[in-house]
Amino acid sequence: MNKIIYADNAATTPIDADALELMFDLQKNLYANPSAAYKLSRPLKKILHESREKIAACINAAPNEIIFTSCGTESDNWAIKSAVLSNLREVLSNLREQPNIITSAVEHKAILNSCAAMEKLGCTVTKLAVDKSGAVNPAELQEKILPQTKIISVMLAHNEVGTIQPVKALAEISHAAGKIFHTDAVQAVGHIPVDVKDLNVDMLSASAHKFNGPKGIGFIYIRAGLKILPYIDGGAQEFSRRAGTENVPAVAAMALALEKNCRDIEINAAKTSDCAKILIDTLKKSNVDFIINGGENRLPGHLSLSFKNGDGETIMHRLDLKNICVSTGSACNSRQVQISHVLQALSVNPNYIRGTVRITFGRENSYEDAEIIGKQLIKCIA
Ligand code: PLP
Repeated sequence: MNKIIYADNAATTPIDADALELMFDLQKNLYANPSAAYKLSRPLKKILHESREKIAACINAAPNEIIFTSCGTESDNWAIKSAVLSNLREVLSNLREQPNIITSAVEHKAILNSCAAMEKLGCTVTKLAVDKSGAVNPAELQEKILPQTKIISVMLAHNEVGTIQPVKALAEISHAAGKIFHTDAVQAVGHIPVDVKDLNVDMLSASAHKFNGPKGIGFIYIRAGLKILPYIDGGAQEFSRRAGTENVPAVAAMALALEKNCRDIEINAAKTSDCAKILIDTLKKSNVDFIINGGENRLPGHLSLSFKNGDGETIMHRLDLKNICVSTGSACNSRQVQISHVLQALSVNPNYIRGTVRITFGRENSYEDAEIIGKQLIKCIA
């Protein structure tokens, strides 16, 4: 088979070779339970501690503010659901006021369906609109906050269109109203600088497989002092905040992958941005009619392109026949033929909306990959 060109890095990234080696090595050689008291488990405790320190340093947090989870989805569920449940006593004492959650119309399903689950339990959910670039307007948040709002959650960078949200301004408004602010930073961590103190967020979700770490591991940042119920109850792991025996090999691999990506963040961003530019320049040299979604302030190397009168599914399958991997929307809903809630919220021109594909470059892509994708896209559209 010819070489595969993988350009779907927002869906997942290839695992870093050093992280993989470390994970295998630990899985094979350090199998003790990190909670055990004998000396065999001591190195595991140390690895957990050091990994927490490394991850904390990457986002300017304190180590005890990092809690390991199984994925970004778990971190998101924890933030939304526990923010409401942590206030249950207050909620029950005032049954006339349904607890409210504020989020945006373009969140990932991990947030939207967590909100929907809380809606079934009696919460109200307010979804902030977005402009054509996919960005929310902080002034709308200011208007929509209610006394009974328990949490505000807006993602840092968008998984379909790459838009970077004004999270710092949103957090400021939330705090001025005395509310908890969470951000889903699954697409941002390891790709753009993330500083939790500067952003002033209370909680932040991240997932290792989006930054060249292994699948099935992630973390949540919870600001020191924030009272939030555990989402998974059981043993005393993770400062008694997230029960379950820690996956130490995956945690160590996640920390190493994040450390490497943060070290090279500017180099990788420059390279993936150049790949995106080469692809766009290649398309512009032809008479293919397309638009770029997501405005100017986007993740590096992230392209959501809509082709006039095109069909995203067909383009994706034709590229697949040429060993090129891209997606039509977010990976989680690539089997659905409906137009994504995100493109609808952005009011993408109806003549273009069906012809949308997402091409997301990663650190492993070359300029040649970008040119080949551009040329193959031109052939598909023709
Ligand atoms: N949030 C965003 C913005 C995502 O892009 C994703 C994955 O696509 C998730 C959450 C879910 O992360 P995970 O796959 O680790 O559960």
